[in-house]
Amino acid sequence: MICLYCHSRIREEADLITMFKRRKPLCMPCRKKLSLWRSGGRCGFCHRLVDREEDTCPDCRFLAGNYRRPGKIMCMMDYTGEVKMLFHRYKFTKDAALSEVIAMFLKCRFGEYDMSIPIPVSAARMEERGYNQTSMVLRAAKVPYRDILATDKAARQSELGKRARLTAPNPFYLKEGRAASSLAGKRVLVVDDIYTTGITVHQALEKIYTMKPDAADVLTFSKA
Ligand SMILES: [Zn+2]
Ligand SMILES: [Zn+2]
Repeated sequence: MICLYCHSRIREEADLITMFKRRKPLCMPCRKKLSLWRSGGRCGFCHRLVDREEDTCPDCRFLAGNYRRPGKIMCMMDYTGEVKMLFHRYKFTKDAALSEVIAMFLKCRFGEYDMSIPIPVSAARMEERGYNQTSMVLRAAKVPYRDILATDKAARQSELGKRARLTAPNPFYLKEGRAASSLAGKRVLVVDDIYTTGITVHQALEKIYTMKPDAADVLTFSKA
């Protein structure tokens, strides 16, 4: 077997149990490298690495002052140098097979939610990359999801400052149709690939909250 991440031959015994347990091969050293969490204080809400342990970091307080918060934010992988590299390869060198690697780290109780909703990518980005990096991981993990959000985000918003993004119009909208209108009273999970400032997710939530779900949590594969 060849490791999907480092492309080296996996030397462990390929006995039947490990063959079936594993969806796709990832060698043990890569598995360890990618599951590493840096030590240090963490924000209790968004899991950002901070100087000292605190309930909410300045970013979370900034967001709370401007948006309605999600119930909780779950983060699957720390944004270490290695994870950064993984996402770079996955998103920018279009190594789509890495969706299988990221999917292995999804440890979330999806069954507790009525609907998982990935953050959408714009039509231009879709054309350029060929896939929505978030929904592709959900597909690899065999997690059902609904594409009820869309975006007309033309510019790379990440290049705008925090304040500029706050005053810019919300780039997300809910697609017409039954799925979006049936969110009332439901437990929804918004899924994003990398949580940086958190503004993207909070803008998406702003649209979702208009449909009055019972609860909305966030799952992010990694946290920058
Ligand atoms: Zn490997
Ligand atoms: Zn925080």
